[in-house]
Amino acid sequence: ALTAGIVGLPNVGKSTLFNAITKAGAEAANYPFCTIDPNVGIVEVPDERLDKLTELVTPKKTVPTAFEFTDIAGIVEGASKGEGLGNKFLMHIREVDAICQVVRCFVDENITHVAGKVDPIDDIEIINLELILADMEAVEKRLARVTKMVKQKDKVAMAEEPILIRLREAFENEKPARSVEFTDEELILAKGMNLLTIKPMLYVANVAEDEVADADNNENVKAVRAFAEKDSAQVIVVCAKIEEEMAELEDDEKAMFLEELGIKESGLDQLIKASYKLLGFATYFTAGVQEVRAWTFRKGMKAPQCAGIIHTDFERGFIRAETVAYDDLVATGSMAAAKEAGKVRLEGKEYIVKDGDVMLFRFNV
Ligand code: GDP
Repeated sequence: ALTAGIVGLPNVGKSTLFNAITKAGAEAANYPFCTIDPNVGIVEVPDERLDKLTELVTPKKTVPTAFEFTDIAGIVEGASKGEGLGNKFLMHIREVDAICQVVRCFVDENITHVAGKVDPIDDIEIINLELILADMEAVEKRLARVTKMVKQKDKVAMAEEPILIRLREAFENEKPARSVEFTDEELILAKGMNLLTIKPMLYVANVAEDEVADADNNENVKAVRAFAEKDSAQVIVVCAKIEEEMAELEDDEKAMFLEELGIKESGLDQLIKASYKLLGFATYFTAGVQEVRAWTFRKGMKAPQCAGIIHTDFERGFIRAETVAYDDLVATGSMAAAKEAGKVRLEGKEYIVKDGDVMLFRFNV
């Protein structure tokens, strides 16, 4: 399954947020492809369309789509040189699809800050520098190898060399790989280099309980937003402590709690939605009488690959996909009515699946 990794300095609220995630967590039995690991929390992605499809089809069961958050504890200054858990930590980051960096914006005299004071930008820079240093090492090694191959007129090496040089320049200026502008072809090559700083980054500004309703006026949050803009990253605001408490509440209690706090949507739901979007994810649906279900795919994936998310046999034996857009299905009211109205398309191997497609895969076994 696709994963977002939670990182941050010690004492910023990572475990608190991660607890909220696991408490609110999804029924693991529905997601056999997810990792069973104490450091992994499975989250369900809220989607109103799934509720609507359930109303239409009245299936025995409805299953939202899910993805994983991994708690990656242990980054400290010097991690790229092997300090603390060092390399092990960086290896875990290599495996995730996006990074959520928790940044401490709450001030609490009783809770030590590793650097002695709360300064979110200093904190971000410490972590980002470790990631950049690790990438710098990888790029220099690769560049040495590639330069030799360029002398032998190796085509791939010739394409990679200028990319590596631009990456090195960015790193020298303490800029992440994701801030470098690439053409589509260059981006494919750059992504193949397995860099840490090319992954999408979301800063999770962790504010105090009494600051969450008015977070836009919080100086620390403002600073994080300004930094993120230069850094090609995004920001959401949470109060990890509130999220942890709220994760234990029933839905109606939760709604009341949110209203009291003066916020519309829980930080956790915002985090899930923002991560989902950041990852370039989209959702297609299957809607049978047994089960209505949402499935996550990556934008740009073709029908057979999407079928393969359900089962590898579906991809191997893919014939075609009966496809109807969510809006068309809702407008016509049923699969049969959609067919009659000519809204159900037969799509083949080259079809690029769209967000909201409702699909029935036909395949050979
Ligand atoms: P980690 O080391 O990053 O995993 O940090 P923890 O989640 O263990 O949090 C460190 C301390 O900060 C704990 O005592 C938490 O209760 C506290 N903490 C975390 N988030 C908040 C918050 O939003 N507000 C306040 N006041 N304290 C928090």
